[in-house]
Amino acid sequence: MTDIAVVGAGVAGLGVAYALRETDAEVTVFERREEVGGRAATHRRDDCVYDVGANYCKDDDERVADLLSGDLADGLVDTAGPVWTFDADGEISAGRGDDDRKWSYRDGLATLGERLRDASDATVRTGVEVTALTREGDDEWRVEFEVADPDSPMAGDERADAVVLTPPAPTTAYLLDRADWGAGDDALREDLVEAAADVPYRTLLSVALHYPDRADLPYYALVNTDKSHDLGWVSREECKPGHVPDGESLLVVQPSPEWSRHRYDDADDEIAVQAADAAAELLDDPDRYEFDWADVVRWRDALPDRGADAQILDRGAEADLFFAGDWVAGEGRIHAALRSGLETGERIAERY
Ligand SMILES: Cc1cc2nc3c(=O)[nH]c(=O)nc-3n(C[C@H](O)[C@H](O)[C@H](O)COP(=O)(O)OP(=O)(O)OC[C@H]3O[C@@H](n4cnc5c(N)ncnc54)[C@H](O)[C@@H]3O)c2cc1C
Repeated sequence: MTDIAVVGAGVAGLGVAYALRETDAEVTVFERREEVGGRAATHRRDDCVYDVGANYCKDDDERVADLLSGDLADGLVDTAGPVWTFDADGEISAGRGDDDRKWSYRDGLATLGERLRDASDATVRTGVEVTALTREGDDEWRVEFEVADPDSPMAGDERADAVVLTPPAPTTAYLLDRADWGAGDDALREDLVEAAADVPYRTLLSVALHYPDRADLPYYALVNTDKSHDLGWVSREECKPGHVPDGESLLVVQPSPEWSRHRYDDADDEIAVQAADAAAELLDDPDRYEFDWADVVRWRDALPDRGADAQILDRGAEADLFFAGDWVAGEGRIHAALRSGLETGERIAERY
């Protein structure tokens, strides 16, 4: 029996678990948050369901599209309406040639992680943060973790024949940097740390704003194409079937990376008011200044701007270390992260 430890239950980590579901491998996925899905995240409030990380998954990857229409299809919904654009001056233009299907689930995109978890036969441990990795002998890892239970916090460890790291690259670099490599090749560890640490990330705030009334608009979302506006994205969750009760509206406002970085540590209510003001101005709709509740979500490592050096990452296999995620695929997209997880899982299945 081969024990595989996967760090992170985003779609990449769960993609690894899914790919290994019909093998002899005993897979344990460690996730520091209470929920699975990572940046494919959904919140709920009153009768609303809204996606606060990724907005939707496209079927740009054939393999992922097949999975979505197969094992993961239950509850999948297509977002109604196109994405339009706006420029630095807030000038809105129809269309960007992108009216493809934009998948979420009736219960939100986090369902994707739940479906992958349920379809795999892995043990998924949530609320468990991996804190250290230690190489033992030539062919074993010890994975140390902490359980984030406020009533009875505890620490533990598990052995594994191979470890898959799927957190965003800065966290992966941190874990590798602290790893005790034992008698292993320290130059390899340094190369891997450098490859992961080299990936630049954008920081994003995601601000959900709820309104008791709904405006009838011809688009689902607006995206800023010249990257010179305070806002990068404004979308309407009511365009996703099942997300917002009839007659109500829920805007998801994602300010630009610069705005998000600048205001990252501001209080939630200040961020929400500023985001609502900017959205009302962009939509030219005085009713959008006054929301009745808001939810601010901070993503420090939101989107990788490019991928890590794949050749260096591949060499991790010499030390039974594997990687998956959007930063491994080189594209900050759900389908790319999931594909990366499936491929890494298959590589492991071939090797062990
Ligand atoms: C605001 C925003 C908007 C986006 N919009 C879109 C979009 O519209 N369409 C699209 O396709 N993509 C979008 N993306 C990108 C998409 O969400 C990501 O590319 C994808 O979800 C990455 O999946 P992943 O599994 O690689 O990483 P993650 O989802 O980040 O998963 C990594 C997991 O590892 C866990 N973890 C980290 N450290 C540890 C540790 N030490 N121990 C245990 N667990 C740990 C984390 O909690 C997390 O759950 C967006 C992202 C953001 C933030």
